[in-house]
Parts: sequence; structure tokens; C-alpha cells
Amino acid sequence: SNRLEGKKAIVTGGSRGIGAAIARRLAADGADVVITFAGNQDAANQTVAAITAAGRKGYAVQADGADPEAQKAAFDSAAEKLGGIDIVVHNAGFGIFVPVEQDTPDNLRRQLALNVEGVHSGTIAALPHMPDGGRIIVIGSVNGHTAPFPGASTYGATKAAVQGLARGWAQDLAKRNILVNVVQPGPIDTDLNPTDGDFSKILTPMIPLGRYGTADEVAALTAFLASDEASFITGAMIDIDGGFSI
Ligand code: NDP
Repeated sequence: SNRLEGKKAIVTGGSRGIGAAIARRLAADGADVVITFAGNQDAANQTVAAITAAGRKGYAVQADGADPEAQKAAFDSAAEKLGGIDIVVHNAGFGIFVPVEQDTPDNLRRQLALNVEGVHSGTIAALPHMPDGGRIIVIGSVNGHTAPFPGASTYGATKAAVQGLARGWAQDLAKRNILVNVVQPGPIDTDLNPTDGDFSKILTPMIPLGRYGTADEVAALTAFLASDEASFITGAMIDIDGGFSI
């Protein structure tokens, strides 16, 4: 479709997994897209190639989302390359899964730095470049509101924290008609959580639809929220999990 024609988007962590699928889908729907990535230049190049193959402008900026200065530089650079930012997708994130008896303060700190502070610093950096009517979409997790398996306390805490940011931002930015929502995936087949990994043997039987989701399915929801069709949705936490958290 062309429903995002002329829109300018940034997707953090867009080189692989869910972020790459989102970047491709936004471009397929008409948006120009800047992705950020941590270190995988080859994967970043592949996403950019897919964006340009869709006939849109695509760029990759290497930036550690856990570093607020690097994050600001990346968002400023995206705005300069595209001529503004209409759509922000905060996707970069990771998890350290250990039971609390084996936990360390550093485990929490590292996840907070990317999954929460990266989202916060990115939004602050994006806002001066965003016109009224923009979109901010955070990729959270069902772990933000459920604990269906052991060992996910700190990861879940980071994904609950972004709910708080998103609700508050939805309030603050309503006057500018900037809509802020959280997409909360259940198990999705990516390098972080592959269907051929040990984790999937535990998780797959817990999913009513009987399978992992795909990154493309998460991208479809994200692209909808980015579009004009989602004009009355803000401050929402939307699960996409095959019934995992029922
Ligand atoms: P992947 O590990 O497959 O991909 C991670 C992406 O983020 C890569 O593009 C990577 O870049 C980038 N990235 C990693 N660290 C940083 C960093 N410090 N700064 C900038 N970019 C970084 O992850 P997924 O696609 O599975 O996950 C994406 C999001 O979805 C995360 O927020 C995750 O918590 C969430 N999620 C995932 C679920 C799943 O089952 N897969 C379920 C629920 C939520 P590079 O290629 O350079 O390493």
C-alpha cells in the first residue's frame, strides 16, 4: 500500500529481527526509513538494500542505543537525512534471562540502559524534529505485564517501565496529536528467540495458536499504528502473542 507515502521514519535496531521487518514494511508502505544498529554492518546493509529496492530512501546509522549521546546523534542525523521525523519505532532491546538467585545489579543496569534509557533518550532527541500528528511506537513485550516463565524478572521490569513512559508521553503529546503506543510481542522467531532454540521447546506449547509469531506479523501491526488509520489509538498497550498471555 501507499498509506505511509511521504512519511519519514526511524527504526532503532533495524538491522535484524523485528526491527528489520518493521523497516522493510514501513518502506513497502511508502516511508523513507533510517535504521540504527549496534555492530552488524552486513545486516544493516541488507535492510537498507530492501528499503531502496522498495523505491524509498534508506540509511543505516551505527549507534549504541544505550549511549544517550550516540542516540541523540543518530536521531539528529536521521532528521537531517530525511528532512524530519514523522514516525519513531523504538525497537532495539535485549534480555538477560536468569532466576533471581543468580541475578546481579549489572544485569538490570545493562537492560535498563538499552530497553528503557535508550527509548527515553531517543524520544527526547526525536521530538524537536517531529511535526504534529507523528507517531511513537515502542516495541515492549508481553513480559511487561505477565511473567509466564521463570527468569524474566529484570527483562519484564524494563518492558513494564516503557509502558509508564508511553502512557505519560501519550498524555504529554496529545496536544500535538503525536500518538504513542506500545506493541507487546509474545515469542517471535528472531536471532534473540529462534524457533530452533531450547527456549522454544518450553514456550511453543504455551502458545494457544501453537506456533511462534513472525517478525513480519509484528511489522504489520506496527505499520498500522504508524498509519492514519490508527488515528484514535494512543496510550495503548497492544499484545501480539498468539494468545500466549491469555
Ligand atoms: P534481535 O536480537 O533479533 O535483533 C536486535 C536488533 O537490535 C539488531 O538489529 C541489533 O543490531 C539491534 N541492537 C542490539 N543492541 C543494540 C544497541 N545497543 N544499540 C542499537 N541497536 C542494538 O532482537 P529481536 O528482533 O528479537 O527483538 C527486537 C525487540 O523486540 C526487542 O526490544 C525485544 O525485547 C522485543 N521482543 C522480542 C521478542 C522475541 O520473541 N523475539 C518478544 C518480545 C519482545 P545488530 O544487528 O547490529 O546487532
